[in-house]
Amino acid sequence: MPVTITVYGGAGEIGGNKILLEDGENRLFMDFGVSFGARGLYYEEFLNPRSPLGLLDPLVMSLLPPLRGAYRDDLVVSPEVWDRVRAHPHYREIPEIQGVLLSHAHVDHSGYISFLKETIPVHATRMTAFIAKAMQDVAGADLEREVGYTSPRLPTEDGLLAPDRKRFVQRPFAFVDGPPERQEALLFWGSSPAKTKGIEPAPLLPAGRVGDLPVGYFYVDHSIFGACGFVIETSAGWVVYTGDLRLHGGHSQLTETFVREAAALRPTVLLCEGTNVGREAQTSEEQVYEHALRLIREARGLVIADFGPRHIERLLTFYRVARETGRTLVILAKDQYMLEAIRLASGGPWTLTEMEDVLIYAERKGMISTVETRIRQRYAARLVSPEQIRADPPRFILCLSFFESKHLIDINPLPGGLYIYSSTEAFEEEQEIDQRRLQNWLARFGFQHVGFEGTEGLHASGHASGPDLLRMIRSIGPRILVPVHTVMPQLFAERLAGTDIRVLLPKPGVRFAV
Ligand SMILES: [Zn+2]
Repeated sequence: MPVTITVYGGAGEIGGNKILLEDGENRLFMDFGVSFGARGLYYEEFLNPRSPLGLLDPLVMSLLPPLRGAYRDDLVVSPEVWDRVRAHPHYREIPEIQGVLLSHAHVDHSGYISFLKETIPVHATRMTAFIAKAMQDVAGADLEREVGYTSPRLPTEDGLLAPDRKRFVQRPFAFVDGPPERQEALLFWGSSPAKTKGIEPAPLLPAGRVGDLPVGYFYVDHSIFGACGFVIETSAGWVVYTGDLRLHGGHSQLTETFVREAAALRPTVLLCEGTNVGREAQTSEEQVYEHALRLIREARGLVIADFGPRHIERLLTFYRVARETGRTLVILAKDQYMLEAIRLASGGPWTLTEMEDVLIYAERKGMISTVETRIRQRYAARLVSPEQIRADPPRFILCLSFFESKHLIDINPLPGGLYIYSSTEAFEEEQEIDQRRLQNWLARFGFQHVGFEGTEGLHASGHASGPDLLRMIRSIGPRILVPVHTVMPQLFAERLAGTDIRVLLPKPGVRFAV
């Protein structure tokens, strides 16, 4: 039996990685993420797959590969679901899948684990698992975020599915870098975000093997803590999967070590991300720090910094800038919850200590979740109100994004503030619309803004540049390279022409032997 690989997501697209590896009766997925491209073809913020219909919408609209046997039984609203996709060219009745290797907690790699059978073990670093759980805890009920634990669905009288009011069920995890030792961390892993129902625990599983296949991991540097690549020993030799990585970040030595160790295996296959294969130089995090520092030194009013809330490296950059400029960083309660999760998972290359001088913004809102209530109680002394910010705007750097623009109404700062956009460039139409709206908010409240062009050096990408990727691939020297997580896979073939490396461009859902 040949070893086969099927790229169900991540072929010719950035993200949505769902890569199936099969070796005899051994079957595993590398990541199982949301394809924002496929999802965005039909859905947006106010038009979502209908969760009371479980698998129906994501299967019929091809957000999930039609693999009968891979998904949770409680999400099958009626047997007709499978009839709807039986004619799909990728339809398949798939035997047992023994594991998912989760490279990191970005939703385009992790999100659709939600739909997979709740008995399939997830192999991930402790940090990735904790971040995924914290994201789920703050997301509230969201069928597309059930990575750490499931909220089992029960059939209703109307023939729909509704969450069981009494249960959450933990997924079985194998922490590749060892289980948490501290009692506090174990408590977090098992804690429920709801007041009324607990999480039924699943045992922590040993890592190092999926089915009969030995599996190893290597930390890599990416724009989220906990990222790793995987190596799998198959009957056709070693298969290496990079996840997302870069060589220009604060932990680039991790990626260097990964490259060295992967090369030593003389792998048959390298599945390599290629988000930025078309780009040359990259802004480093240190440059982001320098640019932000210069801007904030000159700022006279309130500063707002906009970056992804899970991007701890960026948060630490602005924390440094805040200290240098005599300002105080203000974050949201849900961000503080994430920081707690990261602190509890700390160890190895990623450590975060408590930042006592970071304040927590007391949002004005009617419904405050259980998770947020707990944070507000625990950190009551560190809460800061909109009025306190209005009274002394130059004292603060507020970490907010577009979706929190509404808080400007409560803060009502004097004109003269500065908004620093320190996140990915808008590359999709929807984001461009959001960005236009955001600019309207900023104009209304008298903010200057910087960073929207993406050329000001206020964002360091999480992905390696083209030259770095090619250097890495040549060092690892696989027999076959499979570019994933890129819209320019053919560029790899062009750049590696004339070498011993065969570049295999994957087609979505088409199985190939290695
Ligand atoms: Zn990523």
